[in-house]
Amino acid sequence: MANDNPIIPPPTPPPSSQQPAQHAPPRFDSSEGLGAYFSQLIENPFFTAGFGLAALATAARVGQKGLTQGASLLRRRMLVDLEITRHDRAYPWLLLWMTNFHRTQASAQPPSKTGLLSSLVNRINPRLHHLQVSTFQSQTGPAHAAHFSFVPGHGKHILRYGSSFIFVDRQREKAFDLSTGVPFETITLTTLYSQRNVFEKIFAEAHQMHQQMQEGKTAIFNAMGNDWQVFGEAKRKRPLDSVILERGVKERIVQDVQAFLAARTWYLDRGIPYRRGYLLYGPPGTGKSSFIQALAGHLDFNIAILNVSQRGLHDDKLSHLLTKIPARTIVLLEDVDVAFANRRKQDSDGYSGATVTFSGLLNALDGVASAEERIIFLTTNFVERLDEALIRPGRVDMTVRLGEATEYQMEQLWDRFYAEFDASGDGKRRFLAKVKQLGLVDAVSTAALQGLFLYNKDDVEGAIKMLDGLTASGRGH
Ligand code: ADP
Repeated sequence: MANDNPIIPPPTPPPSSQQPAQHAPPRFDSSEGLGAYFSQLIENPFFTAGFGLAALATAARVGQKGLTQGASLLRRRMLVDLEITRHDRAYPWLLLWMTNFHRTQASAQPPSKTGLLSSLVNRINPRLHHLQVSTFQSQTGPAHAAHFSFVPGHGKHILRYGSSFIFVDRQREKAFDLSTGVPFETITLTTLYSQRNVFEKIFAEAHQMHQQMQEGKTAIFNAMGNDWQVFGEAKRKRPLDSVILERGVKERIVQDVQAFLAARTWYLDRGIPYRRGYLLYGPPGTGKSSFIQALAGHLDFNIAILNVSQRGLHDDKLSHLLTKIPARTIVLLEDVDVAFANRRKQDSDGYSGATVTFSGLLNALDGVASAEERIIFLTTNFVERLDEALIRPGRVDMTVRLGEATEYQMEQLWDRFYAEFDASGDGKRRFLAKVKQLGLVDAVSTAALQGLFLYNKDDVEGAIKMLDGLTASGRGH
């Protein structure tokens, strides 16, 4: 009867005086076998609680480790990374490509949601979400028009390029380049190993895009620290015929440069450094820089400009910069006479402070040896300060004086400005007659003459009249 009552527990044996049976440690009795031992173990509540937790933790740890290892194995096996640093020439091309990519994506229809991965990626990051603005303000456009472009910002992005997914990680390092003050930066592209050929396509597109942007333009490189950096926006190519030199001078230089460019194998076969140096000298405003710029445009080259009198430029830096000239780039070393002036200032131990010395300039010119063509133009307003040592084949192969405007140049310049207002040529005849009468032939710079014409745009009589003023201000310029 009592047993029928569900709330009265059945009688239990008296507990042992040592240890309660329930808390007794499991004993292994070989006669009972391993199975019994484990079932005992499992039935023990302390053990199950402790061991269970530990087992879970271990399993989790093992699982996590396994997952990490698995992920890294998967990553190693299935993914491929490509890292590019800010110092690589293709870095800005890639940014340009991504900017353009973003623009085309932004204007495109929402991506189709086929496939699990596609829809997931579209959901997470259908387009670039973190952008940086890059502003360019034209000095010449209407009311200083500004152009904005959106560059992918720092952080992680996912791009969908054709049927490939590319993870983009743009990271700015804490460290920065001491010579330029620009922080180090890298972009890492990651995609499936099987689709690695997509990188080549992207870089080819980026390069092509960059070239299209450069078409019809001349990029100007300036020295920034120990490297060359593009200075501002590329300039529109200056036409060669916009530079007016004495009869035949332009043609002579252009022919020489072209012959040099065509003789690459000749130089390389003979082990002769493939370079050619030109020295243009003459008073300021006679077209030295303008001609070099026009020549670069004509040859489809860029220009790297370095002024020898520039502060902080010393021998080592000059040498270093000259060995790192970008491809298809003419080097323009302005005011080379400064190096010769510094020779006089040198201490007895040859040190002249943080400036370029005469021997430093010669060494730098001699050190410019490369399989790339190297065209170097030196300019000076003071040829008398130069030394014979400079005018040696390999350093300077051709020397040309660009002087004050000759009668031929004046005539040419007149035609460029007034051809349509002076169809009969009467104005030009009177202009030249007055120029001779005032003794201005070979006495005023082309820049001064151009200034006069610009002031009297469309005004033939005004230009002739103003010649009187030029006598006083422009002579001997
Ligand atoms: P330089 O380098 O000899 O000092 P630039 O080439 O800087 O002279 O010329 C200064 C300005 O004068 C430029 O705007 C340029 O267009 C004009 N100029 C000077 N010489 C010429 C020239 N021979 N033909 C056309 N323009 C010239």
